[in-house]
Parts: sequence; structure tokens; C-alpha cells
Amino acid sequence: MRGLQVQVLLGVPLSFFMFIVFEGIDGTGKSTQVRLLAEALTARGLEVITSKEPTDGPHGTRLRQSAQSGRLSPQEELDLFHLDRREHVENLIKPALARGAVVILDRYFFSTMAYQGIRGFDPIEIRRINEKFAPLPDIVLILELDLDTALSRIGVRDGQGNEFEQRDALQKCHDVFASLDDDFVHRIDARKSPEEVHSDVIRALSSIQFI
Ligand code: ADP
Ligand code: MG
Repeated sequence: MRGLQVQVLLGVPLSFFMFIVFEGIDGTGKSTQVRLLAEALTARGLEVITSKEPTDGPHGTRLRQSAQSGRLSPQEELDLFHLDRREHVENLIKPALARGAVVILDRYFFSTMAYQGIRGFDPIEIRRINEKFAPLPDIVLILELDLDTALSRIGVRDGQGNEFEQRDALQKCHDVFASLDDDFVHRIDARKSPEEVHSDVIRALSSIQFI
């Protein structure tokens, strides 16, 4: 069952779970916002688990290494993402949600739709495969930023060798994120300062009556 689960007795929330996902292209501030949100929710007395994809598990590690040491074939890469996510779901996400923790992820299957979409797979088909084993989040916060600002934040300067490739790839990812129209998808203007973006994240969570 999906959605915010709040049992209220005499106005006191007894238990709830919440599955929050940050998405957006590189440099939009996902890692920064995961940290700020985790701190804020922990300060409110909630148990918070943060994690990222690809994970630090064996499949995720292979994916990270392949980014440096020569890329895998598109199919090998997609298979590894799915193996990594299956483990993530079974070993971390589901157990944490089941005991009432808040789970905050830095990327999830929406990133696979975007980045493996670039490599030739149909994003809709990727989503269909993932929804068979990966629970839907309660909220997906998409951090939106223009390509120039995103590239400058991650240190890609004009004229650098792979800039055009990176630009083209990021634009396509941006387009996949832009195409998501689920009710649980909220878009956040990531051009503002980290603190202002954090306030907008809190506002988005308030709008679904989480906090
Ligand atoms: P992501 O995880 O989406 O790639 P990061 O959180 O790692 O993004 O941020 C990328 C870089 O931009 C980091 O150097 C970070 O300090 C900086 N940064 C993050 N958020 C902002 C912001 N709102 N404004 C300016 N710089 C930011
Ligand atoms: Mg990051």
C-alpha cells in the first residue's frame, strides 16, 4: 500500500512511514538537500535513513567503477541497476519503511528511466519493470536547474572536451524528468540558495501533510 500512513490517537501520530526521493540532473543539489532534509527531520525526532543509487553494494560499486574504467554495454548496465535496486529495496528500503522510519533517497528508478533512456531503452518500459519490485515513493522532489548552472556547479567549463556530450545527455535526462506527471512528483526551483531550496522542500512536504 502506498501513501502516508498516519495512525492518530488523541491527536498524537503513533506511526507513519514516508518514502522521499530526490531526482534531478547532476549538480542540481540533490546530495545537499538530502543532507539538509535528514538533519531537519532528525531534529524533529524522526528516525531517518538516507541512501543513494547506485548503492555502495557490489552491483552499485561495479556501476560506479565502470563510469571510470570504460562503460559497460547498455544491457549490462541496465541489468546491474536493476540488481542493485532489488537489493536496495529488500535490504534497506522495505525494512526501514516497515519499522516506521523515513527513507530519503538520492536518485531512484526515475534516474534509470532518464539515464538508461539515453542509452536507447524506452523510459516507460524501464518504469514498468521497476514498478514490479520497487515501491513507489510518497513524494519525488525534482530539483530543476538550467544546464549551464548545473554544469558550472559540477565543474564543467566551456570548451572542455566532453562538454557537448555531457550537455546533450543532460538535456535528454532533463526532458525525461520533465515528462513525469504523477501526483507525487513535485518540482523545486534549484537556482535558489541551498537554504531557500530546503524551505521549498519543507513546503512541498507540508503540502502533502507530512510535516
Ligand atoms: P547533486 O548531488 O545533485 O549532483 P550536489 O548537492 O552535490 O548536487 O551539489 C553540487 C555542487 O553545487 C556542490 O559543490 C554543492 O556545494 C553546490 N550546491 C548545491 N546546492 C546549491 C545551491 N542551491 N546553490 C549553489 N550551489 C549549490
Ligand atoms: Mg550527488
